[in-house]
Amino acid sequence: MFFLIFFSLFSFSFSEEVIYHQVKKGENLESIAQIYKVSVEDIKKWNHLKTSKLKVGQRLLIKKPLSKDSISEKEIVHIVKKGENLQSIARKYKVSIEDIKRLNDLKSDKLIVGQKLLIKGEAKIKEEPKKEETSPSRSLNEEEKVIYHVVKRGESLKDIAQKYGVTIEDIKNWNNLKKSKIYAGQKLVIKKTISSEPEKVKVEKESPKKRPKEIIYTVKPGETLSQIAKSFGVSEEEIIKLNNLKNNQVRSRQRLLIRLPEEGLQVKPEGKGETKTEVKEKVKEEASSLEEAFENLKKEEELLRKKGLSRRDYLKLISQYRHLYLLYPSSEIAPFALLKTADLYYELYHHSLRKEDLLEAAKKYEFFLKQFSNHPLKERAILSLLEIYERELKDFQKAEEIKRNWGLYLKQGKKPYKEALYNETSVKKEKPNKVPELIADLKKVLNVEAVTGVDYTRIIIELNGNFNYQLNLLPERKDYPPRLYVDISPAVLDYKVKRLIDLEDKHLKAVRIGQFDPQTVRVVLDLKSLNDYKVFKLTQPYQLIIDLVGKEKAIIKERGSVIAKKEKPKSWAKKRESKIIAKSEEENKSEGKSKESYINVARQFGLGVRRIMLDPGHGGEDPGAVGPNGLKEKDVVLKLAKMVGKKLEERLGVEVLYTRDKDVFIPLAKRPALANSLKADLFISLHLNASPDSKAKGFETYYLNFTTDPEAMRVAALENRANDQGLADLQDLVKAILANTKLKESRELANKVQKEMVKHLTRYFSDIEDRGVKSAPFFVLVGTRMPAILIEADFITNPVIAKRFEGEDYLEKIAEGIVKGIEAYIQSLKLSVYP
Ligand SMILES: [Zn+2]
Repeated sequence: MFFLIFFSLFSFSFSEEVIYHQVKKGENLESIAQIYKVSVEDIKKWNHLKTSKLKVGQRLLIKKPLSKDSISEKEIVHIVKKGENLQSIARKYKVSIEDIKRLNDLKSDKLIVGQKLLIKGEAKIKEEPKKEETSPSRSLNEEEKVIYHVVKRGESLKDIAQKYGVTIEDIKNWNNLKKSKIYAGQKLVIKKTISSEPEKVKVEKESPKKRPKEIIYTVKPGETLSQIAKSFGVSEEEIIKLNNLKNNQVRSRQRLLIRLPEEGLQVKPEGKGETKTEVKEKVKEEASSLEEAFENLKKEEELLRKKGLSRRDYLKLISQYRHLYLLYPSSEIAPFALLKTADLYYELYHHSLRKEDLLEAAKKYEFFLKQFSNHPLKERAILSLLEIYERELKDFQKAEEIKRNWGLYLKQGKKPYKEALYNETSVKKEKPNKVPELIADLKKVLNVEAVTGVDYTRIIIELNGNFNYQLNLLPERKDYPPRLYVDISPAVLDYKVKRLIDLEDKHLKAVRIGQFDPQTVRVVLDLKSLNDYKVFKLTQPYQLIIDLVGKEKAIIKERGSVIAKKEKPKSWAKKRESKIIAKSEEENKSEGKSKESYINVARQFGLGVRRIMLDPGHGGEDPGAVGPNGLKEKDVVLKLAKMVGKKLEERLGVEVLYTRDKDVFIPLAKRPALANSLKADLFISLHLNASPDSKAKGFETYYLNFTTDPEAMRVAALENRANDQGLADLQDLVKAILANTKLKESRELANKVQKEMVKHLTRYFSDIEDRGVKSAPFFVLVGTRMPAILIEADFITNPVIAKRFEGEDYLEKIAEGIVKGIEAYIQSLKLSVYP
């Protein structure tokens, strides 16, 4: 197949011009270098040649500095000033108003001060339609303007012809219409000759099939017009006429439009020397080498991909594809090359997460649609554009505009874009939370951490100050997995933050972190599957928490027999930092599969308790409450936790996990995440109470819920280490709390533990105060997927109690009480699965 190659004004933003030299018989690198006044080394470099061997017909890329006579247009962006209108701006740049309107997609003549207008740019390159020319001489005629008319409802060809002062036949020709039928929304090419010359008399009508093929030929050094004419079997005059030449002088590298003699047409006398086949061969050579250049580039891309593309590689490839497009904007490869530039920018964005790359991709897709509005790939370009504006940039106005202009081109048979993207129930359209007063300058994203288990993942994003966030869900698309991303602003990434967290998790492939624009950090979660997610913000420290929860599938065969489909505990043990946790995981693994499924079956019913996670509060830099004797809550509760753990293991034979087993700081948000990812069956957080009233004493047990009790709220604030929780943030927290399905079980566990703890201690101490079971929004319990409680085991601020904490006895009794409570809870379950 031949490629049609047309002459067209093209612009480079490159500093050099590129030409292709086809190696002829007897030529070598030296001779070619001489022709172009470049070095052999350069040619080898440009063409990645390892040796100096050349093949006849081989195409070589030659770079030359821009010659004066080559046309170069840089993009000009004009910012509308006061008092300016389209006319004055058009005058200023010596362009037409129509041009400006088309380039900028303006629907009216109204301009706004400050509005940016593209005056000259890529869009100028190819305003002339492609293969529809009836008279080739016109294609070189700059004066001819092309308008796209979108057919309105009820409009006929006659109406349109009248409107533009052209004939119906013209419109049919320009648009390759076989019939007069048009439909609303159809885009029609309308050509207007605005040159002062009288319009040329139309050339004889030809059916599109018979239209002669046209190619662009680059004059080689030393070639004469007569030689060229002869080689193509056409007349010199025809070439002169076609190319508006003054005489028969041609210069090297000049591009000439050649109209090939059609098969079946008579070969002109000038073409005697060459047979038709030879002409065809010559054209084929030219055409196939273009295809070859494109294929070579694709191969180069593949090779680079194997190594992994760097930003530089992307930009290089984009520039090369763009080059190919610019060189042959009317060839068949042009739309593919152009679309490649858009796709590559979009792909680059997915790595860089930079807004500039995204905008560049959008620009390229739009340009593609402008240039190739009838191309089969337009639908893909439209969908990409919509995704970029709607999903990634949140520019709904622009997205609407695209839908208005292009929506018709989306296939009806397919799942409509709208439905696919909007009717998804899980897609949340969250508005940015408003905490504007708290935001003075950019905050830093200090850390992004993923705590992950078999069917649970928590992402913890930590900042050094207050921030806004916006959550988005991108459904799966051909080239991309479903993605959940959150934009955090105003914020910058700390240099220490890893840009990629690779996970082999059930829900998550990876977490990617990038600076989207100067004040937005974008965190993208590449998902594998998604059942449910929750997002909420914590303060002190400022954190954004994203919880991803999967569902285990269970097939109930018959009563009492449950087959659970479950994942084997994978390599997740490796990912955790805490040694104890890793250890217990190893033990768990060695227990073997049958036991695992047994545990799982029990868990399906919510009955079994095999694994208990103990959470000694505070730790490290956070001492918790401090007693009058200097005793710290963090140390006492760690001791208490170990006592409880030992008893649980010995007496109940359960597996005990700790959020910490030494004096280290573990963020609040990470604690329930550990319990979830390790599939603990109970979560018990241990604390000591504090009060400005030194006489305050007693025990209380909390489960996660809302409270109106000011005392409970006070304790929650104490343990949350937060007293300035913003209202907006609280709303998300509320949602997260409401999503806790283990509310009833947690209350039950709290009741049992409180009761047994007080009962046991009262046996030995006369002054034990029962402050009861309460609920409060404790951060440390938010997002737990198992019954979870928080115990406030007496007041460290009371001097009498603080003294008791110095020894082991009091703690020992508290531990015993807690274990009895847990035991009672487990026994209250209908089915007990521990041995
Ligand atoms: Zn505490």
